[in-house]
Amino acid sequence: MESSDFEDDFDEDDLESLVHSSPSAYTHTFTSPAPEQRESHHKDIRVLAADQITHIKTSQLPIEVVDYIASFLFDSCSSGCFFHVHSFSLVCSQFRHVALRHYFSSIRVASAKQLAAYTNFHFSLVSRNAPGDSVGLNYVKTLIAPSHALEAASWSPSLYRNLKHLMISFSSDGRQSQTTRLKRIFSPPGIPLVPWFPPQLTSLTMTKLWRIDVPLLKTVASAFPSVKVLHLSCSEQLDVSCCWTCFEESSTAVVHSPIPNYFSDITKLTDNFADSLEPLTQLTDLHLGIFLSDEELVEKHIEHYDTPLEFDHTHRIAFSSKAASPPTGNILSQLETETTTGHISYSVDQDDKKEESHSGTCTEDLPFPHGPELCRTCKLFGSASKVRTRELEASLALAGKIKTLRTISWSSFFTSQVFEPDDNKAGDWLRRTTAYILRANGRVRVRRRPW
Ligand SMILES: [Zn+2]
Ligand SMILES: [Zn+2]
Ligand SMILES: [Zn+2]
Repeated sequence: MESSDFEDDFDEDDLESLVHSSPSAYTHTFTSPAPEQRESHHKDIRVLAADQITHIKTSQLPIEVVDYIASFLFDSCSSGCFFHVHSFSLVCSQFRHVALRHYFSSIRVASAKQLAAYTNFHFSLVSRNAPGDSVGLNYVKTLIAPSHALEAASWSPSLYRNLKHLMISFSSDGRQSQTTRLKRIFSPPGIPLVPWFPPQLTSLTMTKLWRIDVPLLKTVASAFPSVKVLHLSCSEQLDVSCCWTCFEESSTAVVHSPIPNYFSDITKLTDNFADSLEPLTQLTDLHLGIFLSDEELVEKHIEHYDTPLEFDHTHRIAFSSKAASPPTGNILSQLETETTTGHISYSVDQDDKKEESHSGTCTEDLPFPHGPELCRTCKLFGSASKVRTRELEASLALAGKIKTLRTISWSSFFTSQVFEPDDNKAGDWLRRTTAYILRANGRVRVRRRPW
């Protein structure tokens, strides 16, 4: 879905012209004669299905087959340009219908104005069709939008009857506006009897959040009870694109590491989160884009980035305190019936060879600025193995409470990036670590590769 981004180079003017220019291929879709009456347009179909044509009168390919072929055609273009959809749509009215449906299957809007243009286009199609026909926004399976666009009056989720995946970026919100924005997007305005979101919506992605907290999770859980894949992230707000000052500033504008200031430890965090997510009885894959390392890690990193002596100092401290290290391991398990985070057994997955994280070996080559994930000092100071164990402990605790879960992922400065699926590049995807859950013989187990 991320790869078919032909909407990217498709600005508002394009949309405007599509909606208003009367001789466009789209507006003709529903006024053209049926394919049976247009012999001259049957050339292509004859080549594809010559046999059927000699035996039976109708020359139409089943729409599913045309649809299937069309998807191959449209997806074969890596730049996803609109040209292919357009030329395909000129063949006949059946093809135009397929093209239109394909065009609407995934839409990306940048502003409330653009959403309004799509909505107007939808209603102009509705007016040309029989009541109850699926048209326009009814075809949308994936909708990608910034939070401010979905606040407008034209945002009406019930029009998106087939919406499966909703992706919202909260980059324009912050501490002040996140909660009110969430309310406006997710709660129906005074019509409690109408279901606001379609039940087919099973995947929700929200990126660039200011904070992942209990009110946010409760809002999501009440608005999308049938969600299966939930992706929430804020750690990508740590900005390494400019200078150290900007990096430092961005680190104070997002709650990237809620421990210990918002939750004193992982038990507090997982208890609160699991309780809030309880209504999601079909949740299988959960991503929480926050760091489970202490908040201090980022603060210390900003302090030591320009002091090379710090590394030696840290080195000494780290090695002198090695004796009292907590249990570690890369497979954690506990009894299925266990409700508290005690009695965890730690073992080592011998086949997990890629456990070592990828932090920089040569400090001189590091980009300016860089996050703790590339920093040798942080790896030592932040005790990578302790953090990685903590990530598994948190995963195990959530897996124990939310029985439908199959994977849980977090943002991490110490990720090994080995089994990360590369088709989901949403949020802080480079710094993601995933725990896979196995439920067998009365025990719940987690590890960093599929079982
Ligand atoms: Zn192309
Ligand atoms: Zn800067
Ligand atoms: Zn550092």
